[in-house]
Amino acid sequence: MNPRILVVGGGPGGASAAYWMARSGLDVHLVEKKTYPREKACGDGLTPRAIKQLLDMGFDFDGLDLHRVDGLRAYAGGLKIEMPWPDHSMYPNWGATMRRADLDGTVASLAEAQGAHVEQGTTATPIVDNGSIAAVTLTNSDGERTVTPDFVVIADGSNSRFGRDAGASRRKDFPFGLAIRAYYESPNSHDPFIESQLDIRDRNGDAMPGYGWVFPLGDGEINVGAGLVSTFKGWKDVNTYRILEAYIDSLPEHWKVLDVTPHTKPLGGKLPMSLSVGPKIGRNWVLVGDASGAVNPFNGEGIDYAYETGRLAATHIAEAAAGDHLALAGYARDLEDIYGDYHRVARVFVKAIGNPVIMRTLTTVGLRSRPLMEWTLKVMANLLDPDEAGMTEHVYNAIERVVNV
Ligand SMILES: Cc1cc2nc3c(=O)[nH]c(=O)nc-3n(C[C@H](O)[C@H](O)[C@H](O)COP(=O)(O)OP(=O)(O)OC[C@H]3O[C@@H](n4cnc5c(N)ncnc54)[C@H](O)[C@@H]3O)c2cc1C
Repeated sequence: MNPRILVVGGGPGGASAAYWMARSGLDVHLVEKKTYPREKACGDGLTPRAIKQLLDMGFDFDGLDLHRVDGLRAYAGGLKIEMPWPDHSMYPNWGATMRRADLDGTVASLAEAQGAHVEQGTTATPIVDNGSIAAVTLTNSDGERTVTPDFVVIADGSNSRFGRDAGASRRKDFPFGLAIRAYYESPNSHDPFIESQLDIRDRNGDAMPGYGWVFPLGDGEINVGAGLVSTFKGWKDVNTYRILEAYIDSLPEHWKVLDVTPHTKPLGGKLPMSLSVGPKIGRNWVLVGDASGAVNPFNGEGIDYAYETGRLAATHIAEAAAGDHLALAGYARDLEDIYGDYHRVARVFVKAIGNPVIMRTLTTVGLRSRPLMEWTLKVMANLLDPDEAGMTEHVYNAIERVVNV
């Protein structure tokens, strides 16, 4: 059978695109090269923005291994602050953690329930002709076949081999992130706060631009990890595994991690951020999620942005499938309109914190002021209310002033 729309990759971006396209009545075929439940290097953290996307897709929050989270506890320079998720006119005031091994298959099955055909254990490879995807080869244990969809949603994640073959590339002058996580046993895994350490250090004791996290899973285990952005001198030589080891050794007492041997091998990955991959569209394809570089540079969050870009792409593909030849260009334009300013601010911010002095000053000064930290949490998790939208400009100016000082 020849699907009208092919979705490549069954992570958050692909599953959301498939869900929304199938829901609008389109003939959608999603291929995922692995088989659910599949492991994914991730902190397993869901912010209120991600919860909203899941609610909109009819995700059943009861009866699943999902741990509700009330807010964030932040540490730096021996200081600590606990902040609830803010109230917002569009987003819930709670977040969650859920293992990606469970989450992604569940969301793909929501797309299936809307009528999308989900095929696991199948790898897609494009056949590109003159900038458009002329056909796609699908390979699995039964062999190889070729399909010729009208449109392709490229949602194959951070390395996006499919996207590169189609002609997309990452801007090297934009930052990207590196992160690693591992699971540990903790009697405090029901803690209702996720936690971040804002002053992680390298082996020389210098502050690094990034943070360490403990995301409790509510099932006897915690997800512990560390993430960095590429804006500091020497990031090319950084060994994230060593940074994770050092962070584990300095975890706050209350996690009571007695055995520092992780349950599974630590897993790391890249975080393509700030919409750094482009072009976002071709004649008959679009990029979503990590394949488009959609990760938020402020906090390394990518699940929500994969859901959001997948959903946005679905709207435009539905219009294109109905004959609107300009609809895909509209997707690229909407990405810029919705996220462009925010990412510009975020790029300045991550450039600034690449300087260890600025990083140390921001964290230690910030943690002394609850209003400042609550405002920072809103900005970093992209939870400013629409009536605070002008804030972006203030944030930009404030960050610029700090950089100049
Ligand atoms: C260590 C680490 C911690 C993180 N922690 C968080 C966090 O706590 N919260 C958060 O919001 N974000 C976090 N992120 C980012 C988040 O994991 C990603 O942004 C998110 O997974 C992006 O979703 P995606 O659908 O674009 O890509 P992915 O989730 O990577 O999904 C892509 C899918 O495509 C499949 N695929 C690849 N190639 C093909 C092919 N040719 N054919 C068929 N299928 C293919 C892959 O198997 C995969 O299932 C973290 C990232 C890392 C590395």
